[in-house]
Amino acid sequence: MSDCLFCGIADGKIKANLVYQDDAVLAFKDIAPKAPVHILIIPRKHIVSALDIESSDSELLGRIFQVAGRLAREQGIAASGFRMVVNSGADAGQSVFHLHYHLLGGRRLAWPPG
Ligand code: AMP
Repeated sequence: MSDCLFCGIADGKIKANLVYQDDAVLAFKDIAPKAPVHILIIPRKHIVSALDIESSDSELLGRIFQVAGRLAREQGIAASGFRMVVNSGADAGQSVFHLHYHLLGGRRLAWPPG
């Protein structure tokens, strides 16, 4: 989508600190990290939010979680623990309307979240 920030990153038109990419999935460091490790994992495909996932996206979402595990190991937070977060809609504070998974770790994460 032409006016989507994360599509721009996926297309290489907007710079980001990439830590992983393949033909379907991209991961890059969050510009305003909320933990020592804060990576965003996105599908290249423009999906607006968790509400817009279709049954044909199942394999893609599986791939995203595999990438999350790989990055957790690479970033040294697999043993200590990490969290995957998807904000959806206003009450959750979604600010970018291209599906993304926050991978957070490297410190004790409070529960329940704020
Ligand atoms: P959310 O609030 O769940 O929609 O998350 C959007 C996330 O994108 C926030 O954590 C922002 O800090 C992050 N963000 C916004 N712009 C950029 C960018 N250009 N590069 C990396 N992360 C970004």
